[in-house]
Amino acid sequence: MVKVFIAPRRYVQGVGVLADIGKYIAPLGKRALIAWGPVVSEKFGAQVEQSLKDHGVEAVPFTFSGECDRGQIGRGIEKAKAENIDMVIGIGGGKAIDLAKAVAMNVKARLVSVPTIASNDAPTSAATVYYTEDGVMEGWDLWPVNPDLVLVDTQVIVQAPVRWFVSGMGDGLCTWYEAEAAYKGRRTSLAGGVSTLAALELARLCGDTLLEYGVDAMRDCEKHVVTPAVEKVIEANTLLSGLGFESAGVAAAHAIGNGMTMRESTRAYTHGERVAFGLETQLCLDNDITVEERLEAVDFMVAVGLPVTFEEVGLGDVTPDELMKMAEAFCSPGQITHNHVFTVTPYDMYSALVAADALGHSRKAK
Ligand SMILES: [Zn+2]
Repeated sequence: MVKVFIAPRRYVQGVGVLADIGKYIAPLGKRALIAWGPVVSEKFGAQVEQSLKDHGVEAVPFTFSGECDRGQIGRGIEKAKAENIDMVIGIGGGKAIDLAKAVAMNVKARLVSVPTIASNDAPTSAATVYYTEDGVMEGWDLWPVNPDLVLVDTQVIVQAPVRWFVSGMGDGLCTWYEAEAAYKGRRTSLAGGVSTLAALELARLCGDTLLEYGVDAMRDCEKHVVTPAVEKVIEANTLLSGLGFESAGVAAAHAIGNGMTMRESTRAYTHGERVAFGLETQLCLDNDITVEERLEAVDFMVAVGLPVTFEEVGLGDVTPDELMKMAEAFCSPGQITHNHVFTVTPYDMYSALVAADALGHSRKAK
């Protein structure tokens, strides 16, 4: 079996690095398309463009709608071609970064990702997740290369609402349990091979870091300060989770969290929130997980405010028939649900969803 490990070429994390972005990107090119949404452009635009100028890089700003849909990506590609750029910088949340990846790959430019929130593990990965204009997940592409540079300014991350930070912990927590599940079955990861020891250990470190420092880090992030706990959790949410999910593997938690966007009521929740409930469900599916492991994860989710019940992911009014249809979709052929070593039938999935909701209610009551 062939093992494959993929990663960005450089990862930079620290207080104030955004103001110095020009220094880090100057070796990569001379003319950069900057993909960002209106809020990010307003907030950081002047600082970023000044730093680029100081280091001899021309900035070509491209403001997108905020949704990573094919129309927006097409507009970005047109602009990149017309402006003859040699690198694309995505600044913002996962959607800005995923859009930047798609544009850069289509015009064969260098790629830089600059997350302004630590809400998911898109920044280091080679994947773009596509949504429709209405926010329904539509599919994804895995590009042949990862970003040339990932730049994470921790002071910027803690200025964002804490909900994003907690969402990233939800996504990051999934990484370990899904990696372990995929590893047991020697399943092929997104990277295109089975997991290396390195990817598996990074995924484990991601989970351990969150369980140990997550609650402290959330408290500090609420106060908008960067502490050692915050630095560790940002690294877990971004670097460890990104390398872990991509090169070690994924499983039911992401099938559930992504699949539930088929129901409109779940779309108000973040990716990390949805997959956190997906993880709770996965832990109710998996016979190998001990009771202690399951409760440790769920109690952590309760402690940081991640969703553990149907109500908390917009499924409070779901009917049994509807839930069964969702369970069938989560188990459709080719779904990553089937990365587990055990068979998952729609009825198993239905049962686990109901069990997860009940478990969530019971742990919240404690
Ligand atoms: Zn994810």
